[in-house]
Amino acid sequence: MIVLKFGGSSVASATAMSRVLDIVEEASSKDKVVLVCSAISGCTDALLQIGKSEDPEHLIESLEGRHISIINRLFTGKERGDAIAECRSVFSDVRCIPPVIEAFGEVLSTNIIARKLSCEGVKTLWLDSRELVTTAPGSGSVGGPVDTAKTYAAIREAVEAAPDVQVFVAPGFIAKDSKGAVTTLGRGGSDYSASLFAAALDASDLQIWTDVPGIMTANPKVVPTACSIPAISYEAAFEMASNGAKVLYAPAVAPAQEKGIAINIRNTFDPAHPGTVISGKESEIPEWKGVSSLDDTLAGTTRLCLTGEGPVSPVATVRRIGNALREAGIKPLYDVAAQGRNFFVTVRARVGRSAVAAIHREFFEERSLSALEVYVAGAGAVGQALKSILDACGGIFPSAGKQIRLMDISSDHLFIDKVLATARSRSVFVDCTNSKDIWRKFVPLLGAGINIVTSNRRSLAIPYVDYAAIKAAAAENGCFFRYDTTVGNALPILQSISDGAGCGDDVTMIEAVVSCTLNHIITSYDGSRGETFSTLLRRAQESGLTEHDPRTDLAGRDALRKLLILAREAGVPLEEKDVEIVPMLAAKYFRGSLDDFYKMLDEDEPYFVRREDELDAKGVRQRFVARLVKHPDGTFKADIRMRLVGIDSPFYWITGTENVTVIHRSESYPLVIKGSGEGARLAATGIIRNILQ
Ligand code: ASP
Ligand code: MG
Repeated sequence: MIVLKFGGSSVASATAMSRVLDIVEEASSKDKVVLVCSAISGCTDALLQIGKSEDPEHLIESLEGRHISIINRLFTGKERGDAIAECRSVFSDVRCIPPVIEAFGEVLSTNIIARKLSCEGVKTLWLDSRELVTTAPGSGSVGGPVDTAKTYAAIREAVEAAPDVQVFVAPGFIAKDSKGAVTTLGRGGSDYSASLFAAALDASDLQIWTDVPGIMTANPKVVPTACSIPAISYEAAFEMASNGAKVLYAPAVAPAQEKGIAINIRNTFDPAHPGTVISGKESEIPEWKGVSSLDDTLAGTTRLCLTGEGPVSPVATVRRIGNALREAGIKPLYDVAAQGRNFFVTVRARVGRSAVAAIHREFFEERSLSALEVYVAGAGAVGQALKSILDACGGIFPSAGKQIRLMDISSDHLFIDKVLATARSRSVFVDCTNSKDIWRKFVPLLGAGINIVTSNRRSLAIPYVDYAAIKAAAAENGCFFRYDTTVGNALPILQSISDGAGCGDDVTMIEAVVSCTLNHIITSYDGSRGETFSTLLRRAQESGLTEHDPRTDLAGRDALRKLLILAREAGVPLEEKDVEIVPMLAAKYFRGSLDDFYKMLDEDEPYFVRREDELDAKGVRQRFVARLVKHPDGTFKADIRMRLVGIDSPFYWITGTENVTVIHRSESYPLVIKGSGEGARLAATGIIRNILQ
């Protein structure tokens, strides 16, 4: 048995009724059907008005007219005459203004539809729900609980007595009380009727057809972005229905639930939509279902209910509701109350709709994330760290409103050509390689509309014309070219320099201690109190902190690249040859083999110790400082050398791989930026910031 229930708007016109007939015929080709209908929309209200009116005749005529015009559209000839006669006879009862006058609406609608089905050759039987559905004793005038034992037995008997019938048509809403007087199941009660028929007959299907695609996450008239809930538990559906979701009458849940019959809520005007299935299945993970609301017109308040399933967290939910309302400028009248998986909050009625919208936005609307497709060249330490950060968060960065999609990561030197051939415009190419010539592909990449983020200094420390060409290509193609991690890792050094450019507070000097390798060596050396200089250097070399030949570092190449980047960021077109470098050690150390070098260091250790003692006595330390200075004639001079710094210098207290950059400007005190300059994970975070920025 299949039980189908249609609401008022599904039977409100001849066109709507034809849709109903299509759906019924389709179902009856599979199994026997019980068709439960509401009155045509507005009919129950109109009948109640008629009951209260001093002079109801014009109301009666208009309601009668609506029914007759549906009949005229659906029937012809003798059938039309019979249908009209039946309709008029019901209206003659209405004209007597009997008690429970609202009970006639469902009689009228189901008479029409049952007759139409018969005319179409379907074996149809109209069942009088007033004879079958009995409310429990003492349940008051309307809406009382149903005596299910009696009701189920009566329904079963009526259906079994008519084995040849294919479609039973029964009015919803109406019933009789224990004394035999006509009553109703309460406003919206047709859903309840349908559920009772389904439970009585152990129906395989219970479908409630309405004018929206199922239970929705909020009232779609209040929240246009509300969407239908595909599946919901009996309990959660009951809560939503009890707290204002009008699509379902709350008491309708129990009969179906007791028999384990799923309730499928569907849209008559979009029959292909699967709608909502209400069943015993409940989500095992925390899941939000919907937000419903009820107005208290007397108190002038609106009570909202957020309904969830699964192990939702009360503390976090109460906080989120509070925040969402605060963001919308709404003050709740009382504290948010948690009852199981339902959360209640009361607001003034005039902000009720905004409150529903605010809670819906917080719990049901993904703040739409724009996706960035990212290709990473270089699967070394930084590339791997980047991948693991993205994997851990699914690439989702809610505060930036963006999602990073890692399309591919590779160390293959041909990778960039592949990216050039396949990546879509507006994707991002990330260079975390150590390659000295990957930059040659940057202009073509930008030409293809691909953005670039690099942490590779060698891609920046190139001749100025080439550097300028890359920047121009980026501007021309509307792409970004970002490289903040090339100096000071994740520290905001470059952005601090470029930010103020051209604003009248010009850079006059930059001093930087930015070579982690050298810092480590210099700050670790402690003269006679610690290890010898050569031991220290050997260990740094072995741990990979220096290049294979540590003299490359000592010669200041790395510091030179960084100084070029810093200077160019300040608008100074510095070239390598413009920088005067005084290596950390005298020229003789740079000749000969690596072994000769270490031997020489060992021999000279007493000299280093003496020097360290002298400096200690003077209260100064030596630091390898890269410096760009503006001269009075407006030109810039750049050098990299050991400098002695006193206790009042920001370079004095540096440990390990710390970096310090000091930016001097014409109008302000020096800006000191100090922090970690090392670490693959840090570099990866800096790269992500550059991608999202
Ligand atoms: N016609 C009744 C009402 O308007 C019952 C129903 O539609 O479910 O309340
Ligand atoms: Mg309804």
